[in-house]
Amino acid sequence: MVIEVVRIGQRLVRDDRVTTHVALVSRGFGAEKIYMTEVNPEIKDTIEKINNTWGGDFKIEFIEKWKSIVKKKKDEGFKVIHLSMYGENINNAQKKIRDEKNLLIVVGAEKVPREIYELADYNVGVGSQPHSEISALAILLDRIQEGKQFEKEFPNAKRKIIPTKNGKNVQIKETRD
Ligand code: SAM
Repeated sequence: MVIEVVRIGQRLVRDDRVTTHVALVSRGFGAEKIYMTEVNPEIKDTIEKINNTWGGDFKIEFIEKWKSIVKKKKDEGFKVIHLSMYGENINNAQKKIRDEKNLLIVVGAEKVPREIYELADYNVGVGSQPHSEISALAILLDRIQEGKQFEKEFPNAKRKIIPTKNGKNVQIKETRD
């Protein structure tokens, strides 16, 4: 299963940190790529540094129009999951979603255009209370992959954490393979 994420909109400056965290959660929780509109371009350097140090090839692409990417991915056979507190409860939707092949997950920053509700194959609520795109995304990614994303290797890492009950154990490689 390939999982990609789109973030629609951003409240300028104020949202820089949240946007970075949406990208980091996407990467850390098993998505392969994120598409973003209206963001601080520095985020590309941040993600590149993280990939360099901690491995993997997570991709970030800036897009002009969210609708074009949603339509393109639908044409490629991806199912579109829009995270919204108004959507179907995740507890009821998760099983069907796990059976899909490739997924494009859409998260908003503020009020999202009405059209996305119709374009989405699933509108999914992580509960029906307002919280955050970071938490909603993390929980959806975890429910879909049922924790298996945390067993995945990030290839070519310069640093690799060896999980330990006490302290920090980090394996350091000088060069990428
Ligand atoms: N009132 C806004 C709205 O109309 O959706 C809330 C925006 S919230 C700050 C930003 C994004 O977080 C939303 O677009 C949605 O993707 C996600 N989100 C927030 N609460 C959620 C929930 N309970 N379930 C799923 N997604 C949620």
